[in-house]
Amino acid sequence: MIIESNIAGSFCQMLLPARKIVIVGHHNPDGDCIGSLTGMRAWMESFYKGKEAVEVSMVVPNHIPYYLMFMDGADSVVIYSDNPDRAISLLKEADTIICMDLNDLARTEEMADIIRKSPARKIMVDHHPYPEKFADLVVSTTEVSSASELAWWLVSEASHQTGTVIPKECMASLYTGMMTDTNNFCNSVFSSTFLMASQIAEAGIDREKIQMEIMNSFSEERMRLMGLMLMEKMKVYPDLKAAVLVLDQETKDKYNYRDGDSEGFVNLPLKIKNVEISALFTQGNGYIKVSLRSKGAVSVNRLCRLFFNGGGHERAAGGRLYDKPIEEVADYFERSLRLFLGGFSA
Ligand code: 5GP
Ligand code: MN
Repeated sequence: MIIESNIAGSFCQMLLPARKIVIVGHHNPDGDCIGSLTGMRAWMESFYKGKEAVEVSMVVPNHIPYYLMFMDGADSVVIYSDNPDRAISLLKEADTIICMDLNDLARTEEMADIIRKSPARKIMVDHHPYPEKFADLVVSTTEVSSASELAWWLVSEASHQTGTVIPKECMASLYTGMMTDTNNFCNSVFSSTFLMASQIAEAGIDREKIQMEIMNSFSEERMRLMGLMLMEKMKVYPDLKAAVLVLDQETKDKYNYRDGDSEGFVNLPLKIKNVEISALFTQGNGYIKVSLRSKGAVSVNRLCRLFFNGGGHERAAGGRLYDKPIEEVADYFERSLRLFLGGFSA
């Protein structure tokens, strides 16, 4: 059993007296983040049906990529960077705060301090290693594909205990989150992941629609940008079994880049037989965003913690570089990886 019945019981106990709930996601929200937020919110509508009115809001630090907006409720997520006053007042008035898909409050950016200091009861539902200890109830394991999968087992058990009907919108969102975080059933897939997929398929959600929205809804410019990245912006280091992609601002502008357009790029070099570590550096506002992936034994989580101001999972991690010109990041990556593989540890 993924979720102990007493954890689900504690979850329900914490929800019963709640009147103002805020569900919080991480910076640069991805499919798992938005899927787990909207899925949890849809489930709560069913959980609280017929009970005293409960306000459930969702907040993320910055913009949601366009290709995730099809999810039910995604348009009601409050974006802190667009509307900080609204996000802050929701957090300050909340009696219960649920953090999804994040193990470290720093990933909520400017909201971290408000959440940390809030007297609200806090719940964390997450699948990253080393969870920060800030929540009253921690639902966390790395033995699932995604926060959405963990949320599925949590709401399934909670529904079983309370007789709550799981709405289709909840299933569709959690399925989307799981599907995106596994890169369409490629990475971090456990037997429980297939069981979840099977249970949701059995309930009759429109998987083909989700597949179309996620896999086949990109712009022409995004596809051409992907071609350019592979042709001109990828550097392979055969002796390191590594490859780097660098996406600079000029290229982004030329291809009308929108948030989310580079989704999946970092996985592409791993399709080369002898490439086991892949990096994508994306120039942004004030810093360079780092994405790292591994298909072997190398822990990009550790690599990221040591050299790229970030962290994540063993085989998928991210971070930021603040003080490097974009022209120098490939060399910095090469030097860092050489040190790392040579046994460097800070
Ligand atoms: P991505 O490369 O898709 O942006 O991120 C991959 C994974 O790395 C995420 O699921 C998250 O766990 C982690 N990650 C991404 N960016 C950061 C960051 O800035 N800090 C930390 N600690 N983890 C990150
Ligand atoms: Mn996730």
